[in-house]
Amino acid sequence: MTPLIGQYPDATGHFGPYGGRFVGETLMSALLDVEAAWNAVKHDDAFFADFRAMLRDYAARPTPLDHAQRLSAHLGGAQIWLKREDCTHTGAHKINNVVGQGLLARRMGKTRVIAETGAGQHGVATATIAARFGFECKVFMGVEDIRRQAPNVRRMELLGADVIPVTSGTSTLKDAMNEALRYWSAHSADTFYVIGSVAGPHPYPEMVRDFQRVIGDEARAQFFEKTGRHPDLLTACVGGGSNAMGLFYPYLDDPCDMIGAEAAGEGLDTPRHAASICGGSPGELHGAMTYLLQSDEGQIHEAWSISAGLDYPGVGPEHALLHDLKRVRYEGVTDDEALDAFQALCQYEGIIPALESSHALAVAMREAPKRPPGQHILVNLSGRGDKDLDHVLQLLKERRAP
Ligand SMILES: *Cc1c(COP(=O)(O)O)cnc(C)c1O
Repeated sequence: MTPLIGQYPDATGHFGPYGGRFVGETLMSALLDVEAAWNAVKHDDAFFADFRAMLRDYAARPTPLDHAQRLSAHLGGAQIWLKREDCTHTGAHKINNVVGQGLLARRMGKTRVIAETGAGQHGVATATIAARFGFECKVFMGVEDIRRQAPNVRRMELLGADVIPVTSGTSTLKDAMNEALRYWSAHSADTFYVIGSVAGPHPYPEMVRDFQRVIGDEARAQFFEKTGRHPDLLTACVGGGSNAMGLFYPYLDDPCDMIGAEAAGEGLDTPRHAASICGGSPGELHGAMTYLLQSDEGQIHEAWSISAGLDYPGVGPEHALLHDLKRVRYEGVTDDEALDAFQALCQYEGIIPALESSHALAVAMREAPKRPPGQHILVNLSGRGDKDLDHVLQLLKERRAP
C-alpha cells in the first residue's frame, strides 16, 4: 500500500477530490498569506519547539494514556485504553490547535484574532489564547446559539472577547461562519482567522491536523512503551474531525482499524442528526469540497446532536477522502448510545467524559465484546464532561419519566 502520511493535501490543498479553496478574491489573498506563513514554519524546528513548550507549560501536555481496566472487564472483550485529552488546560483537545494558530498569528504580526462558534467551545478556546498572547478577540456567534449557550458566552466575555451576535439565516453556526469570513476579508491586514477544526479552505485542514497530531504522536509512543505493540482499533468522535485526525494521522500507515464516530442524533433515518459522511453527500461548505448535510437543492441543513460540539454540518476534507479510500470506517452513534457510554465511564472508571467523546466511547463499547481480551482499543477521550452535567442530568430525568 502507498503510504498515506505526507501524501495529502497536494500542492493545491486537495485531498483527492476534496478540500481546495472555494473563496472570492479578497479572501483568497488573506488565505495565501496564511499559507505562506504556514509553509515557512511547518518544517521549522524552532517554531515547533515553541509550540511544544507552550503545550507543556500552558496546556499540560503530554496527556496520560490510561487503561480502563474495570470497563474492559465489564465488557468482557478487548482492552479499552483512553487518551486523556480531558486532562488538558480548558478540558479538551481544542487547546492544541489554538496554541498553534496563536503562535502563527503572532509571527505574522497580527493584533486581532477572530473565530466563529456554535456551541461556544471553539470561541472559548480562541478567547483563551487571545488573552494569553494579548490579542484583541472577536467571536461570531448566531443569536440562537448565544441564547442556548449562555455559560460559554459569559466565559468568553470574562476572558476579554467581544461576542458578536449574528442574525442572518437561521442565526446558527453556518451563518456565524459566513459572517466571520466576511469580517476577515475586510480586516485581514491586522486580523488572523482561527478555524476550530480540520475544516475550511486550504491550508486550514492541513495546519489544524498538524497541530492536533500531537495527540496521536504521544499516544503511539505511550502505547508502544506500555504494551510493545500498536492498538488493534482506534476510535474518535467526528464533528469537524480534528480530534479524530489528530489521533488517526500518525497511525495511518500502521495495520490498525479505525472508526470515526459521527453523531447520529435521534437516528440516521430522521432529520435530527449530524452525520455528514454516514448521512450526507459531497458539496461545498466553508470554502472547501467535502461531505455535508444538504437538501437535494444544495441547501445546507442544520446539524443536530445531543452534544453541541458535534453539530457542524460538514466534516474535514481529509475524512471525506479516508472514507472513500475505506481507510477509516465511519459509524453513527445515537444520542441514547452516547448517554449510555457517558454513564458507563462515570460508573466504571470515575471519569466524567464530554458528550462528544462519549460517542467515541460508545463505538469502543460496541466493538470490545466482539474482540478477544488480547486485543486493544484506543479511544480518544477528547474532553471532559463538566460542561454537560446539567444537560445530562436533565436527559436522565426525562429517560426515567414514564
Ligand atoms: C469541539 C469538540 C469536538 C468536536 O470537534 P472535532 O473537530 O471533531 O474534534 C469533540 N470533542 C470535544 C470535547 C469538543 O470540544
